[in-house]
Amino acid sequence: MVGSAIVRKLKSRGFRNIIVANREELDLTNQTAVDDFFRRERPQYVFLAAARVGGIHANNTRPADFIYDNLMIEANVIHAAHKHGVERLLFLGSSCIYPREAPQPMKESVLLTGPLEPTNEPYAIAKISGIKLCESYNRQHGTDFRSVMPTNLYGPGDNFDLNASHVIPALIRKFHEAKVSGRKEVEVWGSGKPRREFLHVDDMADACLFVMGLDADTWQSHTSPMCSHINIGTGKDITIGELARMISDVVGFEGSIIQDPTKPDGAPRKLLDVSLLDKLGWKAIIGLGEGLEQTYRWFEENRDNIRQ
Ligand code: GDP
Repeated sequence: MVGSAIVRKLKSRGFRNIIVANREELDLTNQTAVDDFFRRERPQYVFLAAARVGGIHANNTRPADFIYDNLMIEANVIHAAHKHGVERLLFLGSSCIYPREAPQPMKESVLLTGPLEPTNEPYAIAKISGIKLCESYNRQHGTDFRSVMPTNLYGPGDNFDLNASHVIPALIRKFHEAKVSGRKEVEVWGSGKPRREFLHVDDMADACLFVMGLDADTWQSHTSPMCSHINIGTGKDITIGELARMISDVVGFEGSIIQDPTKPDGAPRKLLDVSLLDKLGWKAIIGLGEGLEQTYRWFEENRDNIRQ
């Protein structure tokens, strides 16, 4: 989802020499394959958006996949980027790197100040390792590897498989299927009380190009060698209950919403402090209502070939 959005954004800005590799062409967990790819292609800039990602259920039930795949991808790509002289690399993390009970909104500096949310701790540990890999290569080898921490993302290209997806694609699909089959009720997991912040993937891609494009002096004067990651979000959050009502309105579902308390809530709140990004001059522009409508249209138009 994010990689495709970054490619769309690069093309729209006139970049032509974009090197991509899909999963069949390059297994990023294979060190030799990654090294060969970098030797052959010699990229100048690298966006490391590839990762094993998933919603609360997938993270909770397949922790080994989430920690192993992400550690392998990061270690292979970041090491190869150093070895083959990449000028600048942008590593994409996640807001779940921050402690479960961190003061909200969460500043970059709260990293490693407390225990993580248990439902996605292995994934978060892998993403923290990615940040620390970048910082360590910068400190030891003088590389320019930067990290961005997006809040919960959604948009075209998302995963609509109910066992693996995040909340927005799951609810779009559930409300849509209930509407077309005339069902009267849709189940929303957990208590509906957790608060989440959502960023449209096109805004995320825009922010990635923005951070990648900052000159080294500007970047270094706003970060430090041991804290070189930056939050990307909207600075606003809503409850899952409110989100469910918004999505049911966008889809046009007229039945009732019921909670399933047997499913986990996860973190009580995940709101990013985006003042650093704001100070540097970037802001999200796609509102949640508009983004949900656009994503639902995309879902309807691509119903037959989406990941589900
Ligand atoms: P999280 O931000 O890592 O917790 O990831 P999710 O996007 O999977 O879940 C966010 C919140 O939405 C959690 O509190 C879930 O319990 C809640 N939620 C409600 N209904 C659903 C659903 O159908 N699928 C998912 N993935 N989450 C849901």
